[in-house]
Amino acid sequence: MHLYEQQKIQIYNTLSGTKETFNPIEEGYVGMYVCGPTVYSNVHLGNVRTFMSFDMVFRYLKHLGYKVRYVRNITDAGHLENDADAGEDKITKKARLEQIEPMEVVQRYTVDFHNILNTFNFLPPSIEPTATGHIIEQIELIKKIIDNGFAYVVNGSVYFDVHKFNETNDYGILSKRKLEDLIHNTRALDGQSDKKNPQDFALWKRAEPQHIMRWPSPWSDGFPGWHLECTAMSTKYLGDNFDIHGGGMDLKFPHHECEIAQSEAAKGQAPVNYWMHANMLHLNGQRMSKSTGNTVNPGELLSGDNNFFSKAYAPSVIRFFNAQSSYRSVLDLTDDGLLASEKGFFRLMDAINLLDDLKADANSTFDVSQWRQSCYDAMNDDFNSPILIAHLFEAAKLVNQIKSGDASLTSDDLELLKKTMREFTFDVLGLVNITKADTGTDKLSGAVELLIQLRQDARVNKDFALSDKIRDELAAKGIQLNDGKDGTTFTTN
Ligand SMILES: [Zn+2]
Repeated sequence: MHLYEQQKIQIYNTLSGTKETFNPIEEGYVGMYVCGPTVYSNVHLGNVRTFMSFDMVFRYLKHLGYKVRYVRNITDAGHLENDADAGEDKITKKARLEQIEPMEVVQRYTVDFHNILNTFNFLPPSIEPTATGHIIEQIELIKKIIDNGFAYVVNGSVYFDVHKFNETNDYGILSKRKLEDLIHNTRALDGQSDKKNPQDFALWKRAEPQHIMRWPSPWSDGFPGWHLECTAMSTKYLGDNFDIHGGGMDLKFPHHECEIAQSEAAKGQAPVNYWMHANMLHLNGQRMSKSTGNTVNPGELLSGDNNFFSKAYAPSVIRFFNAQSSYRSVLDLTDDGLLASEKGFFRLMDAINLLDDLKADANSTFDVSQWRQSCYDAMNDDFNSPILIAHLFEAAKLVNQIKSGDASLTSDDLELLKKTMREFTFDVLGLVNITKADTGTDKLSGAVELLIQLRQDARVNKDFALSDKIRDELAAKGIQLNDGKDGTTFTTN
């Protein structure tokens, strides 16, 4: 009996605008695709929030016993500065400005992306495909869409014919937009474009002579449109119809709308059963934006080197802060909010660190089974992590009462409490056990937590020379790593 047979998840599906009971296409298996980053600059903190939310979804599905194939792509070509197929390729532009190869840009920021995600204790996806690694699949997909009459070729570029598609299908089904309204709200073409209609989008763009990233195709030497790669890669690895597609709210239109249109035009069926969208991250009540200066990147948040926050925050504190809001709410990052989360986080860790000291009794004064189910109920309700955390705090209070003799549990109940608290805190929420007393200065704690994570990665990769080196070098500096059941903690001399 798998947990998923007892625990039924409700997922808020953007497509229907309601919570629906999650039934995977194949029992016990889940296919999930999440749009990854465009690797032309350091990963944006708002994107980290999106990936953090889907890391929690991935972790919970795995915890329930599903075999999950989680595909998260790397966009390393085709993403233009402007959604209307105009402007320069973001990666090409960066390469031009820095006078390096586009693939050097891709490599640099892919490494940065992985480092940041490792710091935050993300599980790696099952497959991380790149757009440039799937040019052939994208060309084959365009051929099918042309054959089915939903795309046209002009001057070596191929465009998706949104108006033609909308005659037989519903363009706007996901974002709840009507093509008529889109027509009213877009400016007429200025005569420079090859498109029949402004709503049409590029499947293939002919490369100008100076454009470095280019591939041969039946239509021209060029490059694929941005929307196309996700359709090509998601359906290649998950099938023409798969379970969950996630991404940030800002991708709902046009990106995800175009993915649906491309799939239906090429394969005659809707690609995705459950569309999930993570909401935006604000900073001090306002949208983050480079142009207004209201922005902080993940490295600056973790190091404390920024103008917005009074101190550095540990990665797990930031994860905890994120989990204290629903992934569907706007999350407002503030110093007060992070300070409060840090307090709460350490309260929870302190309770977990007391678990092994607790003594069992003949009677239980608390219904642990019922409490455990309430933790599942929270997560089953569209991954409602703030409610889960409220239940974990309830357990933390109980731990302190048992410690002071004001409550008691039988040994079976005590074991169930320990197991459940650890599973939800570490496996599902992805937190790492550090305690306030261990942290020394807070900047130090962030840095040591990063080293602990890198050491874990080294162990996973069986690079024991590196993992031992990290431990020994830290010890030489007076920082002892302690490996325990709940992860690695550290103490300073
Ligand atoms: Zn995508």
